[in-house]
Amino acid sequence: MLRVAVVGSGPSGCYTAQGLVQRDPGVLVDVLDRLPCPYGLVRYGVAPDHEKIKSLQGSLRTVLEHERVRFLGGVRVGCPDGLPVERLRRLYHAVVYCVGAAGDRRLGIPGEDLPGSFPATEFVSWYSAHPDAADAGFLRGVRSAVVIGVGNVAVDATRMLVRGAAELRGTDIPQAALDALAASGLTEVYMVGRRGPAQARFTTKELRELGALPGTDVTVEKDDLALDPADPGTLPAGQRRNVEVLRDWAARSAVAAARRIRLRFFLRPVELLEAGGRVGAVRFERTAPDDRGGVTGTGRYEDLPAQLVLRSVGYRGVPLEGLPFDAVSGTVPHREGRVLRDGVPVPGEYVAGWIKRGPTGVIGTNRPCAKETVTSLLADAPALARADVPADPVAALRAAGVEPVPWRGWLAIERAEAELGARLGRGVVKLSDWDALLAAARVP
Ligand code: NAP
Repeated sequence: MLRVAVVGSGPSGCYTAQGLVQRDPGVLVDVLDRLPCPYGLVRYGVAPDHEKIKSLQGSLRTVLEHERVRFLGGVRVGCPDGLPVERLRRLYHAVVYCVGAAGDRRLGIPGEDLPGSFPATEFVSWYSAHPDAADAGFLRGVRSAVVIGVGNVAVDATRMLVRGAAELRGTDIPQAALDALAASGLTEVYMVGRRGPAQARFTTKELRELGALPGTDVTVEKDDLALDPADPGTLPAGQRRNVEVLRDWAARSAVAAARRIRLRFFLRPVELLEAGGRVGAVRFERTAPDDRGGVTGTGRYEDLPAQLVLRSVGYRGVPLEGLPFDAVSGTVPHREGRVLRDGVPVPGEYVAGWIKRGPTGVIGTNRPCAKETVTSLLADAPALARADVPADPVAALRAAGVEPVPWRGWLAIERAEAELGARLGRGVVKLSDWDALLAAARVP
């Protein structure tokens, strides 16, 4: 049998494991994750109110319950307190890294680190109950928030900021986040793009959702739209639909509402301004479209009030100690999924997902991406199978001081989350700290 380790149990890891066992009956796969919980960004990135996307967990679960796939949670790889990459490599015939992009891009502007300014992903991790996420008091004293960026993460963050407790109570959002959102005095969220509506990265379905939130009005400035000379008829379908929705909203008059989302375009952030020891506003430079889909500065500035700033300008891959890394793209260099060391493909080391191609695309994009990697690995399999590896890598992991959380440990966490929800008079409610997760995982 060919023993393969897949590092990361998000969509790319699960699709890789699935491809391997479906295409070769002689493959055994261990899916390792640093968390005791599987599913990566489906559990810790997809917003709690996106229940349909979250239900994808059901199909990922089928993969992890396959008879030749084994989930091993709580195993850190390639970090100072984790299992070194070289050691893991000796335990398996092949290792596929599907570790995603756990970092954030930075704006590189003054005031970026003022209290009250956060990467949007920290806010996402908090409302998703990621055990590494701290309660940073995101909403304390906040009346107005600015979300920088117009991708789908920005849309998620904006929507979650204005969602009321009544709408979120039925989701698995952790209780502390639900309480904080319920008590929030926020009335206004600006979501701001540095380019025009036609260049926005959000998808139309996600955009439309903003217009259907109870008690919330959405405004779009006619002047922002007028700046864009593009004829929507000439745009690709997705962009055209976005512009059409935005034009519709710009044509409506504002209505009275408890909360307002203000979509703004052609504003480039240049500085976060301090007020009373925390962020008080964001200064933007007005931009103008050039003829290549980019923008140029105009030397005119506009300040938008914000006691909370969420920088939603994209994820970024994080290097794994012992694996090559391209700092410019934030990815592991590869050819058709085979890791390149000094430009040469290394048999036995592979990548799939965001660490391979960068943080783009929807969950389904990981399928073809994983398929390419699986094809490369299976082509190398005859040579890889000749290596001597331990009969059971778990014994070797234990010898290295790692006690993996098995699948039944995860099932025990699921039960604990259902019990917590029942005690709170809610459905399933996520556990949000390491101690609670690990204690639940140990319950037989
Ligand atoms: P994204 O789609 O790449 O959007 C990043 C946004 O940040 C863009 O608007 C970009 O503008 C802006 N930006 C970058 N650098 C900037 C700067 N220095 N100043 C101002 N703005 C800046 O990234 P994302 O929103 O993090 O999403 C990541 C991926 O996950 C995407 O593929 C997304 O579709 C996916 N996702 C999907 C869902 C869903 O399907 N519901 C939910 C969440 C995430 P420019 O275009 O001008 O660079």
